[in-house]
Amino acid sequence: AKEQGRNNYQFYALEMKNKFLRRAVLEKGMRKALERNEFRLHYQPQIDLQTGHIVGVEALIRWIHPEEGMISPIEFIPLAEETGLIAPIGEWILETACSQIMQWQGKGFPLMRVSVNLSARQIQQQNLVGYVGTVLERTGLDPKLLELEITESIAMYNEDYVINKLNSLKRLGLQIAIDDFGTGYSSLNYLNKFPIDTLKIDKSFINQITDASDHNEIITTIIAMARNLKLKVIAEGVETVEQLHYLQNQKCNEAQGYFFSKPLSVEDFELLFRQIASA
Ligand code: C2E
Ligand code: CA
Ligand code: CA
Ligand code: CA
Repeated sequence: AKEQGRNNYQFYALEMKNKFLRRAVLEKGMRKALERNEFRLHYQPQIDLQTGHIVGVEALIRWIHPEEGMISPIEFIPLAEETGLIAPIGEWILETACSQIMQWQGKGFPLMRVSVNLSARQIQQQNLVGYVGTVLERTGLDPKLLELEITESIAMYNEDYVINKLNSLKRLGLQIAIDDFGTGYSSLNYLNKFPIDTLKIDKSFINQITDASDHNEIITTIIAMARNLKLKVIAEGVETVEQLHYLQNQKCNEAQGYFFSKPLSVEDFELLFRQIASA
């Protein structure tokens, strides 16, 4: 038993060491990743459930690490937030996403909105409104076509501060969505106070729909509430035709998920478009 305890300890220590090392490797690498051009944005289509058209894309970051391979944002975004590197990386994401949409407009693809994830840390950034405005000017993107996705976690910051910040962003003409809606355990008060345009139903709720005649009171309630608040509602993580039909029946506005497409590289997204256009 003593032997085993020691092995467990060694195993635990090794795991700690590995985690620590990986963290150090990632942190060091992240500082260079921007200049070395190792980040990519993938784009996942968002579909209007009434027309079936692609009306937007969500930009999702990928890191192609020279030794570690593809690293998930779930792993490195929190690290970027802790180290403050989210500021320069966030600016790169915004600029790249906006100019990509302009490039696609230039190629004659249909007008699309782009949704960019904003981490809570970025809301606290002093120059956020300034650089969002600059990026819009520099890229020439119609501000209406930019949507910023924030999570309910911002509700934990000083309320007046957040309201001011969001109002300044709104004055640029863009849209604001609440991401992962329903998972934040925060009071719903902020829905009346924050200038929000869209609710994005978290995929954990969509997951629970297994057939089109299912009753999911939470989803039904979120959609009804969004309608009453005059907010657009989009479902994420739609993987099956049953889920799609359920959401259509409930008059959900838009949907996104593997059922339609996983997030695609720029090249693959363009391929998808050409296929749709020639279909
Ligand atoms: P999120 O914003 O909630 O993004 C949705 C995640 O669900 C994405 O994972 C997407 O690939 C995945 N997904 C899409 N459709 C489906 C589906 O049908 N089923 C399932 N199971 N998953 C689906 P991804 O790309 O790994 O991103 C994970 C998280 O990392 C994001 O969650 C977001 O919180 C963060 N993230 C990603 N890109 C960025 C970024 O550019 N900036 C910031 N601040 N955070 C980002
Ligand atoms: Ca998101
Ligand atoms: Ca989400
Ligand atoms: Ca999420």
